[in-house]
Amino acid sequence: GLAGRLQETFNKLRGKGKVSEEDVNQMMREVRLALLEADVNFKVVKDFVSRVKERAIGQEVLKSLTPGQQVIKVVNEELTQLMGGTQSKLNMSPKPPTIIMMVGLQGAGKTTHTGKLSKYLQKQNKQPLLIAADIYRPAAIKQLQVLGEQLKIPVFSMGNEVSPVEIAKKGIEYAKAENRDVVIIDTAGRLHIDETLMNELLQIRDEVKPHEILLVVDAMTGQDAVNVANSFHETLSLTGVILTKLDGDTRGGAAISVKAVTGCPIKFVGMGEKLDQIEPFYPDRMASRILGMGDVLTLIEKAQATVDSQKAKDLEKKIRSAEFSFEDFLDQLEQVKKMGPLDEILGMIPGLNKAKGLKDLKVDDKQLAHVEAIIKSMTKEEKQHPEILNASRRRRIANGSGTSIQDVNRLLKQFEDMKKMMKQFSNMAKTKGKKKKGF
Ligand code: GDP
Ligand code: MG
Repeated sequence: GLAGRLQETFNKLRGKGKVSEEDVNQMMREVRLALLEADVNFKVVKDFVSRVKERAIGQEVLKSLTPGQQVIKVVNEELTQLMGGTQSKLNMSPKPPTIIMMVGLQGAGKTTHTGKLSKYLQKQNKQPLLIAADIYRPAAIKQLQVLGEQLKIPVFSMGNEVSPVEIAKKGIEYAKAENRDVVIIDTAGRLHIDETLMNELLQIRDEVKPHEILLVVDAMTGQDAVNVANSFHETLSLTGVILTKLDGDTRGGAAISVKAVTGCPIKFVGMGEKLDQIEPFYPDRMASRILGMGDVLTLIEKAQATVDSQKAKDLEKKIRSAEFSFEDFLDQLEQVKKMGPLDEILGMIPGLNKAKGLKDLKVDDKQLAHVEAIIKSMTKEEKQHPEILNASRRRRIANGSGTSIQDVNRLLKQFEDMKKMMKQFSNMAKTKGKKKKGF
């Protein structure tokens, strides 16, 4: 993948005290190949490489004390710039309701993300209303209604015999009457872009004058995502993009080219089928992620959204200070369970997906019960000072928890690895705090 490829190249440079122009050239050949392989648009790659080269070969890098790091810094900054620079927020109307129109091809994830986005907004104390304006796909209305029921968010529909334009118009009147402050319109897609689809969307747009027209596009389609974005943008003047299925086996190219080619910012990314698997898009974090640095801030934010805020503060503090006992561990285990599948959480931790030695740190959900039993069999002192756990204490704990000594040993090892990782983690967070001074 792109991350691995770039990482390898960077590692070669990282150790270098002095970088020559030829070094930079060679590295940029690698970067160029990696980006093309990741399915980034050809012209975008060309511009990107020449911008980085210009800066890298200039004074800024060659004369600096740590040229290797400087090159990486330049790549990171340019990558961030390419994806829009700063986070692009939803455009909320000062006069409610804010009207959001979801558009895109069939299967891109419009309906799912109508649900996800409404949940996201609900958490920010908004009162959304969903409008079912896909009257063509069988069961499309039902799909949205099911999501609405799950989320306890009302869904406005008029069946499939009224035109989508009429449904959208009536839906907004209803939203006003019911004091709903955000309206999200789920529209129909087609397998391919066609005039009928575009005309219908245009009619809806002209009728309801949305504050946001969000293109929902499947990241796994790579270059196609960019072409789709171009066509929709030409006709509808999009205000933003939701890039979905980033959890899949995507090469990351779409995230990089969509903004660069269309000028349309990515506002959210979808990371799975579940309703809380949506995240605001942060170009700098995505750049770090692509470069294989993990995503500490998203992880902490995720914890904050799920865990109650005092506990989240404690977690953050403990992660940053790497002071963490088995008592905290047990306490967090409960919270972590609420954050989502562990694999996903662990995937955000810097370097973890690549560190082979840490593979067995993947606590599978079924093992959690074991882990809890072991920790609960420890005395208070043992929980705070695991280093006192000698052989006889370990045996007692294994017996007490109905596990084996091997299980206890494994947990102790995992706990130590985790603490090491947190240290790394906290160093990274500090670096980030210092306005990204190198890596
Ligand atoms: P629509 O036709 O654009 O409304 O697409 P749907 O919302 O019905 O989604 C199509 C399929 O993609 C469904 O099976 C969804 O569960 C799945 N899907 C949507 N978003 C994501 C995502 O972010 N990740 C993954 N893995 N699947 C997704
Ligand atoms: Mg749909």
